[in-house]
This record gives sequence, structure tokens and C-alpha cells, in this order.
Amino acid sequence: MTSVFDGTPFDIDTRPSVLDQFTADETGRLGRRPRGIAYAAGLDDVLAVVGWARDTRTPLITRGAGTSLEGHLLARGDELILDLSQANSILDLAPADFTATVQPGVTRTRLNAAAAEFGLQFTVDPGADASLGGMAATNASGTTGVRYGGMRANVPALQAVFADGRVARLGRAVRKSSSGYDLKDLVIGSAGTLAVITELTVRLHPIPEWLRSLRISFPTVREAVAAAVELLGLAVPVSRLEFVDAASMAAVNAFRGSGYAETPALFIDLEAASSAAADADEREIQRVCRAYHADGIEVARTHTERHTLWEDRHQLFLALKARSPRHRFLVTDTAVPYSRIADAVGTATRLGAELGLDISVAGHIGDGNVHVVVPYTDTTLPTALRFSDEVVRHALAVGGTASGEHGIGLTKKKYLRAEHGPAVDIMTTIKQALDPHGLLNPGKILDA
Ligand SMILES: Cc1cc2nc3c(=O)[nH]c(=O)nc-3n(C[C@H](O)[C@H](O)[C@H](O)COP(=O)(O)OP(=O)(O)OC[C@H]3O[C@@H](n4cnc5c(N)ncnc54)[C@H](O)[C@@H]3O)c2cc1C
Repeated sequence: MTSVFDGTPFDIDTRPSVLDQFTADETGRLGRRPRGIAYAAGLDDVLAVVGWARDTRTPLITRGAGTSLEGHLLARGDELILDLSQANSILDLAPADFTATVQPGVTRTRLNAAAAEFGLQFTVDPGADASLGGMAATNASGTTGVRYGGMRANVPALQAVFADGRVARLGRAVRKSSSGYDLKDLVIGSAGTLAVITELTVRLHPIPEWLRSLRISFPTVREAVAAAVELLGLAVPVSRLEFVDAASMAAVNAFRGSGYAETPALFIDLEAASSAAADADEREIQRVCRAYHADGIEVARTHTERHTLWEDRHQLFLALKARSPRHRFLVTDTAVPYSRIADAVGTATRLGAELGLDISVAGHIGDGNVHVVVPYTDTTLPTALRFSDEVVRHALAVGGTASGEHGIGLTKKKYLRAEHGPAVDIMTTIKQALDPHGLLNPGKILDA
């Protein structure tokens, strides 16, 4: 039997059992079977696939580690998946420049293991072991955003292949540049809809010598949030500032066998230049939190203690999945001004109770970024969607964004115009100019 794939200059896997593995995303949301999977190990492979896709008008979905949460990778059925997980070489580690240059399939934990040998770290930490190409494509951030920023701040340069086959280097591997239009930051966050990222130069940061981690419980959400915002105002050098609600703490206890108070909590990392500075900053954190009636403060000083404390936070999504087996999950991702965080969490909690949903709230509170995880079944899907819709519309009404870090993907498209107004038309013009045949991840961010 012949198919459109016969005679392609690269291998395409069309085995149904393999294609089936590409039909669901991390949240359990389902798409259709793609037509095939092509694996690329470098620029030449990508150019061959993109050239063939252009000639045959076959849409492409570029894939990194597959951990995105907004339906970014779900197929409508006619696409070829361009899988970059095998493009995974660290091309250059330059400690003197505080940079590394990598292929897009390198995962953040692999880069961190290599950088640690030089006392350096790659700080963007979405929890999942995502690929650097995928993280750039979603402009990921995560727990360290409050101190180090997300991918835009940490990728000074990249190489990209555009739909017409042009290969371009965007940005320069320097600390700053005011040169020309910033196409690098246009491609970052474009979710594979404008170009395929084939190489990235990323910033590395020194691993601080003095680190402390704290887990602090509070009687109420309002007090936890107020303490967090006050810490930011006092310029306490926190590198992580995370909020977790009572339901999340209960899920962590059940999943990890821990015995934490099941009340709202902050997870905090603090970085200092000396032991004395770390002591002073820790005392300041404790003072502020006690003023907001903190009723349990646990301090982790050794590497092992700190690792355990952060594993509890990082495994939260797994804990929530374990608590609701046979469910799929909606994850909201709004970011709001600091003064509206307590309001955003309160609104979500009230709505969840009104609608009878078993929600949990957590977030990168240092960035004003609030996630609500909503388990749902086919029966409760309409209620979960109504909940998510009201949470996003509330965030937009108070000056926030529909997506702080996960991206728009398929699921948040309907909010784009409410958030950006006529700027959506400019986005559409850019998409049409760079991808006139609509071949790159069609239907994501903008309608096909
Ligand atoms: C438990 C858990 C916790 C998470 N926590 C966070 C968090 O705290 N912060 C956060 O930001 N995210 C978080 N995420 C979401 C996810 O990890 C990020 O969206 C991540 O950036 C996706 O990277 P990936 O390699 O898995 O990309 P994929 O899921 O494979 O792809 C994501 C998007 O990028 C595109 N893409 C991938 N590679 C390329 C490339 N080389 N060139 C062009 N486009 C490309 C794809 O087409 C797709 O649109 C979490 C996910 C999980 C499962």
C-alpha cells in the first residue's frame, strides 16, 4: 500500500500503537491520532522535514518533552509530529560567559547536572522535566521566576527554522541588546506556531552558597498571601515564594506520607551571600510571617532537608492526580497584580465550593501567578469549564492575564481578544506573514 509518506527523505513512524501515545496530554485531554511521527536529531533533519511539509502542505506539530498543559500538542488528525527529543546535545558550556548552548531536546535537569560541575545552574524550573526548546516555546517559568525570571529573561539567543525554510539566528549571547526588532522574544512563547527552535543559548547563574528553605503554615489564605506580598515589599532575597492551599497540603500528606498541618502554607527559598546574612534574612521572614499569625515554621538547611521540602511542592500535581484517579484535569494559570492575589484565590475558593468542585489552589505567588487544579469527569466537565471560565474572566477584569506561564495552546484561545483587543489582529498578520500556509502547529494560540 502506498501513502503520502512513501519516498520521504526521512523516516516516519505510522504504527497505530505509537501514534496512540501522542493523543493525550499531561492533563488527560484528548486529541486525534496524528498522521505520523518524524524524529529529528539536528538542524539538517528539521530542514528536511519542514521542506517536505511545505512541499506537501502537511501541517507540523513540533514536540519537546510533551509536558505542556494547554492542549499545545493535541492533533486535529492531519498533522505530522516533529519530535525533537533526540536533538539533545549540549553543544557548549561557557562558564566564563555564564552561558550554555544546547539543542532544543536537552532537558533542564540534564543541563543543570552539567552546569553544576562549574558551580552554575539553569534556574528556570517548571517542576516537570521539560525540554529547553519546549520551555522556550511556551515561555515557561515556575518556582524561581520571582528571582530569575522566565525563559525570555534566560534565553539571550536562539536559532530558528521558519516555514519557508529560512534559518535565522535571533538575539545575541550577551547580557543586553537594543539591536533591531526583537524577533527572539517573538519566537519565545509562540508555541511552535511561528518557527521551529533548533538551538538555544541560555543564561547560567552561580549556585549560591547559602540557601535556606522554609515551609510556613497560616490560619487563612488572606494571611499567607499578605505575608508573601510584604516579604516582596521588604526586598527579602527570596528565590522561590510559593503558595499552597489547605486542600493541596492534604493531597501532599496523602501522597507523600507527610504529616503537615492541612492549612494554607508558603514554601520559600532564600539565598544569601554569607551565613550571617542567611540568619538575618531567615529571622526577618519569621518575623513577618508571625505578624500574620503563622502557626508552624519549618526550616530546611541541609541539601537533603531542602530537597525533601521542595519535592513535596513539586510533586503536588502528581499528588492531586493520585487523589482523583479516573479524572482529567483543568489547570488555570492566571496572573494578577499583587494587590489582587488574595481576591483571585478567594474567588476561586468560593466558586469551587458553590459549584461543588474538589479544587486545589497553588501558585507562584511571588509572580502573582495562581493555579487552580480542577479534577473532572465527563459528567462534571461543563461545571469545570464554567469554573475555569469565571476564574479567567475575573483575572482579566482585575487587570491580569489568562496565562502566566503555560501558554494559550488550544484551551485559552477564547480569551485572547478579551485580553489583547485589536493586538490579536497584529498577531494574525505576523502569523500569516511567517507561515502563509498555516503549517506550523495550526489552530494553537490563533484559530487556523
Ligand atoms: C507537573 C507539571 C508541572 C508544571 N509546572 C509548570 C510551571 O511551574 N511553570 C511552567 O511554565 N510550566 C509548567 N508546566 C508545563 C510544562 O512543563 C511547560 O509548558 C514546558 O515548558 C513544556 O516543555 P516541553 O518540552 O514539555 O514542551 P512540549 O509540551 O513538548 O511542547 C510545548 C509547546 O512547545 C512547542 N515546541 C516544543 N519544542 C519546540 C521547538 N524546539 N521549537 C518550537 N516549538 C516547540 C510545541 O509545539 C508546543 O506548542 C508543568 C507541567 C507539569 C506536567
